[in-house]
Amino acid sequence: MTQTFYFSNSLYPAMESPLSDVLCLEDFSQEAFKDGRLFFVDATDQGYAMQACRALRSEPLASVYLKPIILTGVNGGVNQPLLLAADHTLPETVISPSILETVRISVAPMLQRIGRLPDKDWSSDTHVAFKILRHLFVRNMDLKPVRTAQMRSGFIYPQISCYPGAGDQGLWGILDTMKSQGLLSSYFFDKSYFCSRCGCAFLSFREVCSHCGSVNLFQEDLIHHFRCAYVGPQAEYRHGAKLSCPKCDKDLKHIGVDYDKPSTVYRCNDCGNTCQDADILSWCYHCGKQSLPEEMNQRVIHGYTLTALGENAALYGMDSLFRDLLSEKIHVLPLDYFKRFVDNEGQRIKRYGKSVSSLIYFHIKGLDQVCLELGDRALSIFNELSTIVTSILRQSDVTTALNNSLFLSILVETPMERAFSAISRLTSSASGLLNGHLNVSVDIKAYAFPVTGEVGVDTLIDEVMEHVNT
Ligand SMILES: [Zn+2]
Ligand SMILES: [Zn+2]
Ligand SMILES: [Zn+2]
Repeated sequence: MTQTFYFSNSLYPAMESPLSDVLCLEDFSQEAFKDGRLFFVDATDQGYAMQACRALRSEPLASVYLKPIILTGVNGGVNQPLLLAADHTLPETVISPSILETVRISVAPMLQRIGRLPDKDWSSDTHVAFKILRHLFVRNMDLKPVRTAQMRSGFIYPQISCYPGAGDQGLWGILDTMKSQGLLSSYFFDKSYFCSRCGCAFLSFREVCSHCGSVNLFQEDLIHHFRCAYVGPQAEYRHGAKLSCPKCDKDLKHIGVDYDKPSTVYRCNDCGNTCQDADILSWCYHCGKQSLPEEMNQRVIHGYTLTALGENAALYGMDSLFRDLLSEKIHVLPLDYFKRFVDNEGQRIKRYGKSVSSLIYFHIKGLDQVCLELGDRALSIFNELSTIVTSILRQSDVTTALNNSLFLSILVETPMERAFSAISRLTSSASGLLNGHLNVSVDIKAYAFPVTGEVGVDTLIDEVMEHVNT
């Protein structure tokens, strides 16, 4: 049976929907949800529904936070961003078998894509950029902005708004970076002005007096009297119900015959100044800052599409780029094969006692962050980095990856002394390369261990991990 979970703060759906385990937010447990296929969230109480959606999307496990969310009890009153954050909405609060079947069919492709993520059951995805990539990949959809009066930024990407960090203004920067990295491509949606102090999109644009800055202006027609050629504001011509010329005193009767209105002028009620063009000043609804047009921030609002590179990153991790490039230059063995090789090598050394080999590791800490900071330079710099790594290896050496940023190599017939000199060349060249391109310094670690056959390969790997984590 399809396992479903139903979040509700009312007991009613609990009793009536026997197909679901009904939970409240206090029941939240990542382990229990891993195998769940669907999350129903009762939207009768919108505040509660928002909280439940946020709690689910905050989880670090891909098989939990990416799962489809179905809002129930949806009627006209549910706010739009909340509706668009869900994968499916239902007017009912009670889930009958036939409703469940309909929903199950509609979310099947999504579940199938989640199944393609190799680390879905043990991932620890905390970076919002990575969660966004995976969310778009699993749903095979674009990221579309929507105008909203409920957020200061005036625009929201509702599909991802329940992810922590994706609902505030920092999101612009995250999306820009992902675009510069080639993970997303963008298309034009809108262009808008924002307050330069607080980023608020709600600005009131007013004409102000170019002389005293007052907003107390009114606009009036200019009148041109054909007969005497006098041009002046309409107020100067007005005498009760009729118009007469202030210069020649003649009455003006027919527009087009006696006079015309060539343009308009602004008159200031505070200082009396009249001018053809008033200044424009915006006033921020949030912080009250007044700005001239050139002082406001203008931003193009984009929709985003996942690129092929973004899809690859969604599947295998943001930091998989370096591993991919390295694998193009040397054969990176699966861990099982590597372990077998190290074991055999250990046995050979122990039996003949003639030669020595060394096991080295190489680790770049926070590689996903490095990747984000490098932006569109990541490809060429990681290419150089992989050349540095391969330059210390020989054809007979064997390499594996414990993850996307931690590599193990066995340097065959290489004593520890030579292994240490190789890794010191490696770390200094790699640090030089990365630190030369980044504002923050990168922590690169490498170390060597003797392969003697006295200890098993698992113990050796434990020693490596201990060294990496200290
Ligand atoms: Zn004025
Ligand atoms: Zn006149
Ligand atoms: Zn402001």
